[in-house]
Amino acid sequence: MKINYTLRRSRKRRKTISLNISEANEIIISAPYFVPVREINNFVQEKREWIDKTIKKQAHDRCVHKEKEYVSGEHFYYLGKNYPVEVFFEPTEKQGILFRNQQFYLNAPENKEIRKNCFILWYKQKALEHIRGRVDFFCRQLNLRPSVARISSARKRWGSCSPGNRLAFSFRLIMMPPEIIDYVIVHELMHIKEKNHSRRFWKLVEAAMPQYKTCQFNLKKYSENILF
Ligand SMILES: [Zn+2]
Repeated sequence: MKINYTLRRSRKRRKTISLNISEANEIIISAPYFVPVREINNFVQEKREWIDKTIKKQAHDRCVHKEKEYVSGEHFYYLGKNYPVEVFFEPTEKQGILFRNQQFYLNAPENKEIRKNCFILWYKQKALEHIRGRVDFFCRQLNLRPSVARISSARKRWGSCSPGNRLAFSFRLIMMPPEIIDYVIVHELMHIKEKNHSRRFWKLVEAAMPQYKTCQFNLKKYSENILF
C-alpha cells in the first residue's frame, strides 16, 4: 500500500528522518537533503502501523472531545455505551428524546440550546430512576440509610455526602457503565459511616466492592471522555 506524505527537506540541523501527523491527518516527513527518497519510502513503510494507529486515535479523540452539535449521526453515551442520534423536528409531536433499539431519537427545533436541554432532561430522568434504584439496593445490602439522595448537575463532582448524610449524584453519571455508577454510590454511602478518606474508609469500600480500584480507574478514564 502506498502512503502519501508531505516531504520537508532541510539543509541543516536534521540528521535523521522524522515523522509527524498533523491535525488534518497529513503525514509530514522531515528529512535532510542527502537522504534518498528510496530510504524515506522505506522509513514510511516501516512506520505504517504506527501511522495507522495514530490517525485512528486522533479521529477518535476528535469525535469524543468535540463539543456536541446535536445533529444526526452524533453519538451520545448512556450507561457506558455510545449510541447514535437521529434528529428531526415534528412540531405536532412531543419534543424531546426517545431511546429505542440502541438509538436516540430527538424531536426538537433547530436550536442547539433547546436540543442540549432535551438531552439533559432525559439524562436527569434516567439518572434519577437508575441511581435511586441502586441506592435502595445498596442501602438494604449495607444496612445504611442516607437522609436523602438527589440528582445534581455537577460537572466533575460525581457524588457527595453532606455532614447530615444527604447524598447527591451528578446526572452525568448515567453516561458511565453501571459498575462505575455503583462504585460512586457505594463510595458516598460509606461516607455515612466514615466522613473522610482514611484507610478505614477504603477498607469499608473494599469490603462492599472488592473490585473498586478498577472502577476508580475507569471513572477517571470516562471523566475525560464525557463532555456535556
Ligand atoms: Zn469520598
